[in-house]
Amino acid sequence: MGLDNLQKSQESSVESNGVASPGPSGMLAAAKVIRKAKGYSRPSPISNRVSSRNVARNEQRCGKSEGSCAASDRKRLRDGPQPGDRTFIGNDFSRMGFNLGPGRKSYNRDKFTDKWTLDYLTNNVFDSLDNTFDFCMTHGLLSLKPEDAPICTHPGCDTKMRLTKCSESESHDRLIWMCTKTLEGQKRHRTKCSIRNGTMFSSSNLSIAEILLICYLWTQDVSNSFVEFQYGFEGHTVVDWFNFCRELVEIDFFLHSTQVGGPGKIVEIDESKFGKRKYHRGHRVDGKWVFGIIERDNLSNILMVPVENRTAKTLLAIIKDWVIPGTTIMSDCWKSYDCLEHEGFKHLTVNHTYNFVDPDTGACTNLIEGSWLHAKKSFPKYGTSKDLFDSYLGAFLWRWRMRHNGRDLFESFLSAVRGVYPPK
Ligand SMILES: [Zn+2]
Repeated sequence: MGLDNLQKSQESSVESNGVASPGPSGMLAAAKVIRKAKGYSRPSPISNRVSSRNVARNEQRCGKSEGSCAASDRKRLRDGPQPGDRTFIGNDFSRMGFNLGPGRKSYNRDKFTDKWTLDYLTNNVFDSLDNTFDFCMTHGLLSLKPEDAPICTHPGCDTKMRLTKCSESESHDRLIWMCTKTLEGQKRHRTKCSIRNGTMFSSSNLSIAEILLICYLWTQDVSNSFVEFQYGFEGHTVVDWFNFCRELVEIDFFLHSTQVGGPGKIVEIDESKFGKRKYHRGHRVDGKWVFGIIERDNLSNILMVPVENRTAKTLLAIIKDWVIPGTTIMSDCWKSYDCLEHEGFKHLTVNHTYNFVDPDTGACTNLIEGSWLHAKKSFPKYGTSKDLFDSYLGAFLWRWRMRHNGRDLFESFLSAVRGVYPPK
């Protein structure tokens, strides 16, 4: 979207805002009503508090775009950007006589046209409610099919609810499941249920497009402050959703983790202390010990687990869980590893007091040592609370694995969502 269009759309939404539109308090009340509808579960760990600022923005962003809904192109929504689709900042410059188009090899652009970009999502997915819903349906994030409708909870009714258009004050999705049947001998009842029930979007007052936007930005490793500043979200909203994203991919990471190594394969193991330094201005401040495993020929086979202590019992239990017997394990000379030979592993050590690679066996633990650096860099600079520690570690592992498998992070995130909130 060019700058001109952006200005126009802002102007038009201001105009239509002038007409009596439901105020933020009306939206809140409606949200409460929807929540009350029976069966409205809160599967998401996110507790989003609504802000009047956000509600006002929702109205501006999604509500008014209905008239501009283009016929959706399902293939494009499903497959994402195709080569040549991507619009470039360079397009604007070309009007001014600069040549910054896709032909310029220095931008590495040809290589990345098949990945989800913010530009593509903004122009093809977030631009209208229709496109956002189509995107959610094609990616299994949400179902609006009649066969997936929830059952009416009115006593004795027991029929499937119908998808109904509703006012913006009722739900800013503009759609709601509803039953308005008249049962014999009864007054007509009206049961409503949010279309977000049981999805990752439930329990949030943001629009679906806004949630996807924040999640996309999270996958791109964008900072909280960038999201707040560029899009005007409340700080706690961004924090909550970023926490959600980390928890989600942490689950996804462990759901898809299998044992590593095998006969003839080499894995490196090591422990490292995360968090504050052990001795800080004279008094002891504890960090957290993490045990790590990485497979040499397949870097995506990585695992890091927080441990209470570094005893043979603790570490051996993890090794036996995650490393296939017969694997060659390389480690430093930490005494807890002495038992590995008796547990069905080949064990080579490198004594870091003398060298980094053992001159006789070639054993070294450079890979795992290097990954500690990356892992620690992915943590917030000033430390993190105990509760969030695991999810930061999980998110680091997830990103590491996806990158080493050459996967698009947003695509992988969507697949993680499907794993945790299975499509109906
Ligand atoms: Zn009913």
